[in-house]
Amino acid sequence: MDARPVLKVAVVACMDARLDLHAALGLELGDCHTIRNAGGVVTDDVIRSLTISQRALGTRSVILVHHTGCGLESLTEDFRIELEEEVGQRPAWAVEAFRDVDQDVRQSMQRVRTSPFLLHADDVRGFVFDVTTGLLREIDPAR
Ligand SMILES: [Zn+2]
Repeated sequence: MDARPVLKVAVVACMDARLDLHAALGLELGDCHTIRNAGGVVTDDVIRSLTISQRALGTRSVILVHHTGCGLESLTEDFRIELEEEVGQRPAWAVEAFRDVDQDVRQSMQRVRTSPFLLHADDVRGFVFDVTTGLLREIDPAR
């Protein structure tokens, strides 16, 4: 099997255990790159993976999948301060907590669009996966 994703797409999604990404998007093995972290946040390291995905492995579009009931909705940046109090060191990374999942998807789309490293930064779509219905809702980037 070729290492290049058949559908030329990279998916960035939350690590949530209830989100079966391949089932939700109708994807099969070999179809896409899958990049997951807490919240499906477009961090510098996600940009690193997307850049390699597009420039070395031929993907042309990005799909972002966040979801209802995300653990990041119940956290704040205080999480970092609490960590510092417990272990004596504050992490360099942001928690990237959020309150409005639609707005969080828009922010992630914006981070992809404004990356200077991607070849196809404009080809990005964002969705919210509903963990109770199993359905995806596309987010209008303009709102
Ligand atoms: Zn989540």
